[in-house]
Amino acid sequence: MRFDLITIFPEFFTGPLDHGIVRRARETGIIQTRVQDLREFTRDRHRTVDDRPFGGGEGMVLKPEPIFEAVESLLGNSVATANGKPELPSGTAIILMSAAGKLFRQETARRLSQLDRLIFICGRYEGVDERVADHLASEEISIGDFVLSGGELPAMLILDAVTRLLPGALGNEASSQNESFSAPTDQATEIDPVRARQESSGKSQPSLLDFPHYTRPAEFRGWTVPEVLIGGNHAEVAKWRRAAALEKTRRNRPDLL
Ligand code: SAH
Repeated sequence: MRFDLITIFPEFFTGPLDHGIVRRARETGIIQTRVQDLREFTRDRHRTVDDRPFGGGEGMVLKPEPIFEAVESLLGNSVATANGKPELPSGTAIILMSAAGKLFRQETARRLSQLDRLIFICGRYEGVDERVADHLASEEISIGDFVLSGGELPAMLILDAVTRLLPGALGNEASSQNESFSAPTDQATEIDPVRARQESSGKSQPSLLDFPHYTRPAEFRGWTVPEVLIGGNHAEVAKWRRAAALEKTRRNRPDLL
């Protein structure tokens, strides 16, 4: 899968792209990443990417021209529109990072992981000229109900969540299937098949949080690891983990159930 990140702060991604699973996925060719400096698509001496908002008000807004040109240069051709929406090569999505976008969830990551190429547009200042959302981006995504100062962290967060779903990225194929927010066919179904089926017909995917993990020492400052985990009875361990995952989901995220 290929990721392109369009930003006014290209150096922002040094670091985030260079550690752990994302780094290994780059090194083994599971993903390719390219950071595109938006200012390369400006034509004036000051390399201006922003301007004052029509209608007045605070702050500055990212101009549409450099963003359209950056995307078109990455795609190698101009973006045609049909009914005002961009016509993109199949398998490609252009994602505008926006606090006013649709909420990002694990199921979004799963859907995006089926594509070949994601182009991220990272906003700054008060945001991005709306014509980018309307006529260039194929989707506008928010990572949560809070406002950050730029789209770089949100884009990186999506890149990370998508990368770990790609075959081979985790090393151990099973591990992304039993995590928090994995599909109802995995954890939730095992715990309560009827409820999982009922819920999967609803709006959002039912899912459980991960079960609690423990490692050595078996006793730490007087707190002991649950006995069953030490016993080595795999069926009992599995049962305990399912119950503990359910209990933790009830406690921390009752909205998921
Ligand atoms: N005025 C905007 C916030 C602009 S923040 C508003 O009230 O909605 C500047 C940029 O940071 C945005 O253009 C977007 O790219 C990014 N950003 C901020 N919060 C975000 C979030 N929750 N999810 C995704 N991107 C976000």
